[in-house]
Amino acid sequence: MKRPKLIAGNWKMNLRRDSAVQLALALVDRLPKQHAVQVAVCPPAVYLHDVGSAIAGSPIALGGQDVSAEKDGAYTGEISVGMLKDLGCTYAIIGHSERRQYHAESDALINRKLKAAQAGGLIPIVCVGETLAQREAEQTESIVGEQLRGSLAELSSSEVSQLVIAYEPVWAIGTGRVATPDQAQAVHAFIRSWLRDKHGAAAADAIRIQYGGSVKPDNAKELLHQQDIDGALVGGASLKAEDFLAIIASAG
Ligand code: PEP
Repeated sequence: MKRPKLIAGNWKMNLRRDSAVQLALALVDRLPKQHAVQVAVCPPAVYLHDVGSAIAGSPIALGGQDVSAEKDGAYTGEISVGMLKDLGCTYAIIGHSERRQYHAESDALINRKLKAAQAGGLIPIVCVGETLAQREAEQTESIVGEQLRGSLAELSSSEVSQLVIAYEPVWAIGTGRVATPDQAQAVHAFIRSWLRDKHGAAAADAIRIQYGGSVKPDNAKELLHQQDIDGALVGGASLKAEDFLAIIASAG
């Protein structure tokens, strides 16, 4: 099945307003107008408005790096689904390994965030992935399977089919150590077969599964042409227009 590839840039806590807007404008300027690949940028929340204005009218979509599971109320520092929607977001990254690690996010919380995001009209990009110790102990499939089970709990097959999943081996994020295309493809195939078992062929065939972890212009093409790799979630290399555009071009 032909799934449109999605290349999303996770800018994390980088850039300041001027450099964020400059990067967005450079992408708008240089992205080919007719392009089969879908593109999104996820700037820091405080710059969503400025970056959203810079990409307005372009094919580039906007995403939040996280979202609250709560609708509104006394949740200091949190940002709700409705607020991200007000800013023009289409996507929200949920359960990034940095949030799992530094903010102790559990699969149960990720599941609540994901349901809130879908109910409010955002497309969740749900991150899963094993640590190096888990990979070396040959636990990759059991860890990723458990993350999927917890994060996607109680979702219908039609809700699952509309998600984006990002397989991001923790040992490859920001380390320059990329999974080989074979390693990545094997886990993507496992994820798709897990989805097929639980939610049927239609959902498993429709869902996009991105790879993330040190994707760069020189390794993107081979990764992005694996059968079950439907795009990339890009950290470091999304901060340079030239590199991000080269990754987008190699997905086409
Ligand atoms: C990420 O943070 O989602 C990521 C994949 O980062 P990097 O590309 O820098 O490894």
